[in-house]
Amino acid sequence: MAKVIIVGGVAGGATTAAQLRRIDPEIDITIYEKGRDISYGNCGLPYHIGGEVAERDQLVAATPESFAERDVTVEIFHEVTAVDPDNRTVQVKDIRNDRTFDAAYDYLILSPGGSPRLIPALLDVPQAFVLHSLEHLDEIKAHIEEKNITRAVVVGAGYIGLEMAENLVHRGIEVTLVHRDTEIYRPLESDMSDFFMEELKSRGVDVKLDTEIVEVSGDTATLSNGEKIEAPMIIAGIGITPRTDFLEGSGIILNDEGYICTDKHGCTNKEGVYAVGDAIETNYHHVDRPVHVALAWGAHRMAYVISNQISGDSSVCFEGLLGTNIIRFFDYDIATLGLTEPELADYPHFVVDHRQKNKAGYMSDSVPIHVRAYVGKDDGKILRAVVVGTEGVDKRIDILSAHIRLGGTAMDLANIEVAYSPPYSSPKSVLNMVGYKAIEKMKKIHE
Ligand code: FAD
Repeated sequence: MAKVIIVGGVAGGATTAAQLRRIDPEIDITIYEKGRDISYGNCGLPYHIGGEVAERDQLVAATPESFAERDVTVEIFHEVTAVDPDNRTVQVKDIRNDRTFDAAYDYLILSPGGSPRLIPALLDVPQAFVLHSLEHLDEIKAHIEEKNITRAVVVGAGYIGLEMAENLVHRGIEVTLVHRDTEIYRPLESDMSDFFMEELKSRGVDVKLDTEIVEVSGDTATLSNGEKIEAPMIIAGIGITPRTDFLEGSGIILNDEGYICTDKHGCTNKEGVYAVGDAIETNYHHVDRPVHVALAWGAHRMAYVISNQISGDSSVCFEGLLGTNIIRFFDYDIATLGLTEPELADYPHFVVDHRQKNKAGYMSDSVPIHVRAYVGKDDGKILRAVVVGTEGVDKRIDILSAHIRLGGTAMDLANIEVAYSPPYSSPKSVLNMVGYKAIEKMKKIHE
């Protein structure tokens, strides 16, 4: 019977195990997870802190016991420390018993995710936390409750920092947001992001831009601009680094930043070794360019692809990513897809900008929605799109994502038939209008 070893037991690892078991009732599956928990919803962690997810255990999708019932072995506190693809073995450290052993595999699936970064000034600071696991969640909640925290500092205004700021405010905690950059939330165009500051101010968040924490002493943090702020709790959300150190010497190819290179079946360069999740480099769907996207959709899709591949069906492929993403920030929703702004520089394009009401303008609750599309000059391909508003953003970004994936151009958006009734849209919806504007611009370019 073929033996599968999975490294990492959260989104990518647990999903691949579940898919594989569904397809193949016989195959021998072992998950090694170096942490305490498996198969929980990382994405929901901030919302439990804010109280929107009432029970912590609602975040847990499966446990070692529930996997055992499906004949999947889960070893928690077991870290894979080395991989030998030529002999098809991994070296495993049983952390609790300080014991190391080798385990053989026919198929190895790597889903080690990323480590949250921490700035040097926060290392060894007892009230400094990251939020990347259930263990982190428990530590943060315990700190809030034991120290009766009423003020907190959030470091970083990426999506995890912003979600944390929002949820701490919901919990009644006063927040200072410290961000090294001059602008909040880099994935969004600076000229579209004015509302962030207004929204932060109106929610009482104290924002410190263009500065960072350089020292923490007791409950006081000193910023690089010399300012001192109260910091009885600090939560950093400043990105991740792929956890691929243990692959050193394995011959498995990593890119310059340490992400595992995979093909359309999730295979690495070594036979029998697959990779999934935040630690992999894959390709954009709509342009021929490598990308790594640390989001859940790709992990779930690749889990499906790999499990089919191992079960003998190589017809299912990973067709690449658009990086489609959305965040809620108090009353606003912000969604983007496609190339980043810097990457766009390599593609001749024009911009279509359109703002209109999300539903019939005469409806008393209609609100503006802003769509921007970056369109390839030669072929009309939507290279990047951004949607911002307070309602209906999710619908528009998902339509755009599906449209691009199925080969639709910006001009084709004029032809998207929308479900119209005044409470939902307009007969000429915001996306139709982007299409009409793209047609006009394209005509002018090629006149
Ligand atoms: P992870 O889920 O991080 O799991 C990796 C596991 O591997 C870890 O448990 C780790 O301990 C283990 N591991 C690592 N190395 C080893 C080793 N050598 N041996 C054994 N075990 C090892 N995505 C979205 O799409 N939308 C969202 O709204 C969203 N919100 C998020 C909010 C937060 C707070 C966080 C942290 C993430 C969020 N994400 C979101 C990202 C999403 O959770 C990740 O894309 C997804 O979890 C990636 O799955 P993964 O399996 O690659 O990594």
